[in-house]
Amino acid sequence: MINKFISQKGVISLSVLLVFIVPLSSSIIFSKINSVSNIYFIENNINSVLNGKTKYFWSNLTQSEQNKFINYSDFKEFIQSKYSPLSININKIKYITKNTLKINFSLKNSNSNIRIPQYYNTHYFTFTINKHDKFTNVGLFSLNTPIIIYYARQYNRIIKIPIMMLHRVAPQYPSRQNYSSEYAYKLDYYLTLTTEDFKLQLQYLKTHDYHTIDMNTLYNNYYYNFPLPKNPIILTFDDGRESAFQYAYPLLLKYHDIAVFNIITGFVGSKTKTHKYMSWKQIKQMYLHGMEIESHTVTHLALGNLTLGEMNYQIIVSKSVLEKKLGNSVQFIAYPSGSPFRSNNIKKEIILSSRLKYYGYIAGLVDDNFNKDIQNLKNSYSLYRIRDSNLSLSEFIALITGNIT
Ligand SMILES: [Zn+2]
Repeated sequence: MINKFISQKGVISLSVLLVFIVPLSSSIIFSKINSVSNIYFIENNINSVLNGKTKYFWSNLTQSEQNKFINYSDFKEFIQSKYSPLSININKIKYITKNTLKINFSLKNSNSNIRIPQYYNTHYFTFTINKHDKFTNVGLFSLNTPIIIYYARQYNRIIKIPIMMLHRVAPQYPSRQNYSSEYAYKLDYYLTLTTEDFKLQLQYLKTHDYHTIDMNTLYNNYYYNFPLPKNPIILTFDDGRESAFQYAYPLLLKYHDIAVFNIITGFVGSKTKTHKYMSWKQIKQMYLHGMEIESHTVTHLALGNLTLGEMNYQIIVSKSVLEKKLGNSVQFIAYPSGSPFRSNNIKKEIILSSRLKYYGYIAGLVDDNFNKDIQNLKNSYSLYRIRDSNLSLSEFIALITGNIT
């Protein structure tokens, strides 16, 4: 009886095994064929864009990819004004899954009037298609790839866009007993915006049809005519304080807003009696949820007071550390204490701007002191900001609408 049972079980197992083996092997063969055709499909689409046939590629984008643009002609203008002055070749294909290709391109300029960030020639761009053969990830042609500077297109461009400067967002103003000096206490006091006030600001922006954008989008507009939303506004947070992660970031997510976080790379994860800075894990989390991460130097020194070597160190190292940690390009900087632009040291301003341009930055944000909501994008290395701390809602509204008294 026992033997019979075993033998019966053996027969059953074998037949179960056979039932599984047959479809398993056929599905392996099928997926191989499928992945080859997917590779061909992806490559074919990339080549169509590189050959100026953007319509075919557009027709293969998912609705949500298409929705990033107003319409097809908008997409076409963006792609063409960004890439058509360059020669682009598919260089290497590094990693392949069934629906994903990682591709390295070589981008070359025919003209010294163009500066291509090194990132392009070293980075692998991910292209992904879904089961309906629609692109869910468009790699090189994404909106957030680095801005390529076309010096010929640096024309005067006056735009109304308030760029807000925030630091500490917390439920309460700081208390004097935690600070060793009156000066340090006052500095933090005037850099604080309460969580409640920040929430009121975001609610105001939402109900008055303002739209938060990042620096990359602003320059997609400047160089490639990418359309900006109605009433654009940029929220920037300096220093990478943990309070901004803890109190401002959840509200940004809640209201579907984005912001720019300017990080002091040498301070990441550190803590003093009064200051706590975000960790790399927190910075990465914000980046993956759509926040833009940019440089605020390595150790927060006033750049106008440094030697050329020290200045280079602050701007090169902060950029490369952020790029390595996030796998994304960094092209914007906020100057600690607005130096040298606040002190009006023209010679230092020219030296710093030329160094920034040389090392791949395309714009720099000055400190407050200017309270202007109108920018001329030609002055990219000294964009004005509006101090957004210690403000009532009515003061905030007056500043962003330009009704400054
Ligand atoms: Zn700062």
